[in-house]
Amino acid sequence: MVNIKINEKRLVQTFIKLVTIDSPSYQEEKIIKYLIRFFKDNGLKVKFQKVGSSGNIVAFLKGNREGLPLFFNAHTDTVQPGTGIKPVITDKLIRSDGSTILGSDDKSAITLFLEGIRYIKQNRLKHTDIYFVLTYAEEQGLVGAKNFDFSLLKAKYGFSFDSHGKIGTAVLSAPTHYQYTVTVKGKSAHAGIEPEKGINAIVTGAKLINKIKVGKIDHETTANVGKIEGGIATNIVPEKVVFEGEVRSRNREKLKRYIKDLKSIISTFRKKYRVKIDLDLKLAYRSYDFSGTSFLVKQFRKACRAINISPVFDKSNGGSDSNIFNQNGFQCLNVSTGMAEVHSTEEYILIKDMVQGMKLFLSLITQW
Ligand SMILES: [Zn+2]
Repeated sequence: MVNIKINEKRLVQTFIKLVTIDSPSYQEEKIIKYLIRFFKDNGLKVKFQKVGSSGNIVAFLKGNREGLPLFFNAHTDTVQPGTGIKPVITDKLIRSDGSTILGSDDKSAITLFLEGIRYIKQNRLKHTDIYFVLTYAEEQGLVGAKNFDFSLLKAKYGFSFDSHGKIGTAVLSAPTHYQYTVTVKGKSAHAGIEPEKGINAIVTGAKLINKIKVGKIDHETTANVGKIEGGIATNIVPEKVVFEGEVRSRNREKLKRYIKDLKSIISTFRKKYRVKIDLDLKLAYRSYDFSGTSFLVKQFRKACRAINISPVFDKSNGGSDSNIFNQNGFQCLNVSTGMAEVHSTEEYILIKDMVQGMKLFLSLITQW
């Protein structure tokens, strides 16, 4: 794996092209159309799983040598403010002009895929069957991956390029994540005339929230109450309050215990305050945990070494499409593209990281 000569100028151009195509979640038609065209023009077979005006793309690059098929994943959507992006290019990096995000999350990954395909074709690289899975609305809670028709994917192992950190970083462990909604129902009454006939849902809800542990619970567990709504006017004892929270942990036992505690606090409150309390608990995604000796991690290490970069293994407390692949029986590591300060108007990417990312992407394919 010596002598990978990257066309840096074209790499930057492709990235600029992609980030200037607006693609906020669920409004991804334009980028999807552009990508399907690109894949077809380059001889890949494309399957499109349409969902509303967005959808999931699976592009297949037929192998020219024996070996296990491989997949790569990225997402087509971006967060807000993300329309009318005007990238600023310096000799070292690309950033937004400060009024929007840049969109390197996750178009830096798609750039690697497109430029990688060009490189493979032009340099006649030997590779096994490769699938590119591009999901929609990842930023809205891994929506595309959750709705993905996994029967379209005939590769068991793959890499998601959707993380930050220096090139060579891979996320070995990510949490399980639950979201919940609590509805507290008391009784309304006139606040001036007969407040004693009411049961104040806001006050009870506030006491309840006070009992729920939030913040950083320990090194692998976090929890939050992030939204609250209730009440109509100051002269009415409020009948209802609704709040939403979440908990995530890389440790399933701790997560179970947290949820058990949450249920027990709620049941105590039901008895103590004569209120109705509903708890609606939903699994957002499941955790995964790769050992340092697992096949995929070994492959990743080998690919890094072939291009002289040292692998960095990370634990994350955030979820990504890779959680969904892993919980569906695939093996998928989430890898850094070099994107930095994502989900902010300070977002940027170093050009040297884009070049290194491209080498890593090609190395994963050739060392596979
Ligand atoms: Zn992302």
